[in-house]
Amino acid sequence: MTDTNRRFLLTARPDGMPKDSDFALVDAPLPELQPGEFLIRNHYASLDPAIRGWLDDVPSYLPPVALGDPVRATTVGIVEESKAEGFKPGDWVMGLNGIEHYSVGKLGGFTQPIDVSLVPSPTNFLSVMGAVGLTAYFGVIEILQPKSGQTLLVSGAAGAVGSLVGQLGKRAGCRVIGIAGGPAKCARLIDDYGFDAAIDYRGKDAAALSADIGAAAPDGIDLVFENVGGVGLDATLDHLNQFAQVALCGLISEYNSEHYGTRNLWQLIVHSATIRGFLISEFLDRFVEGGTAMAKMAAEGTLRFDEHIEEGIDNALPAFLRLFEGSNQGKMILKLI
Ligand code: NDP
Repeated sequence: MTDTNRRFLLTARPDGMPKDSDFALVDAPLPELQPGEFLIRNHYASLDPAIRGWLDDVPSYLPPVALGDPVRATTVGIVEESKAEGFKPGDWVMGLNGIEHYSVGKLGGFTQPIDVSLVPSPTNFLSVMGAVGLTAYFGVIEILQPKSGQTLLVSGAAGAVGSLVGQLGKRAGCRVIGIAGGPAKCARLIDDYGFDAAIDYRGKDAAALSADIGAAAPDGIDLVFENVGGVGLDATLDHLNQFAQVALCGLISEYNSEHYGTRNLWQLIVHSATIRGFLISEFLDRFVEGGTAMAKMAAEGTLRFDEHIEEGIDNALPAFLRLFEGSNQGKMILKLI
């Protein structure tokens, strides 16, 4: 164990796309543990689009990251030292910590033990068994509750959440249409994830996208899993069937700009449709159920999940920005050790 802790700190609130000068990499002394605390050596950090929202000083479901604090992220790591009953050196843990080599966990906090023998890699606790897997699982089975024969449209479809949503929709017997950026990702939707149709949104306005969605869904759309927002959501709303349901999971196209402001809400009235925002934390008491179900499908080989692992805390910002460029190929994870 070294005696310094390399940390990726937020030093200024980003205006638009985050840039180098909004952050600082510093070497700090290792913290002294207090009773009830344990020291975690973070091995992997989950780079999630949601982190962008935590950098802004606006009301949200978590307080903003304070200036001077490490950028918040879910991490998986090993307990190095402990003054907390129930956590001993060598235990693998997962929790909402920071992008830093060492974090301090507290009894009763967000960090919990994990059993890495259940999965091929500890990173799976950040992908198929982590927040993205649980978001896909509960978003599909609880929010959308698909029925065989329905048409499901997924945006951000080639990403970590979207690719799992599409596969769960197929398992439920839906016709699944995905929207993603570029021909390569659209090919992956069909070839790797089993979608029925794929639409490339790049370079298209709402009218062009609406035409493509209409061609891919001639009988309309019953279920929408929305990860992106912006013009794509407007275009999608043109094609809702009566009593359609939209699960509003994310608005990634709006995270680095003013909110676009969906202009087509009238279609919800026209089609007696429902739009339902949700956060995965709603299902906290069922995480074991969801994680177990996703791990089982993955272990059987009936659910494909991809992880995109970048190395080194020095790469935290470039790796994070790949989420907004669309150059991640699966769940974006930063390897810290
Ligand atoms: P992804 O792995 O899907 O990576 C982000 C992808 O978003 C990129 O690869 C890119 O794909 C796409 N994207 C980025 N910018 C734009 C843009 N301007 N327009 C269209 N597409 C864009 O990330 P996740 O799977 O982790 O997250 C997907 C969504 O789910 C996010 O909105 C996230 O906030 C949300 N989420 C919500 C949760 C909840 O509890 N409600 C929990 C977890 C995630 P492409 O190449 O196709 O453009």
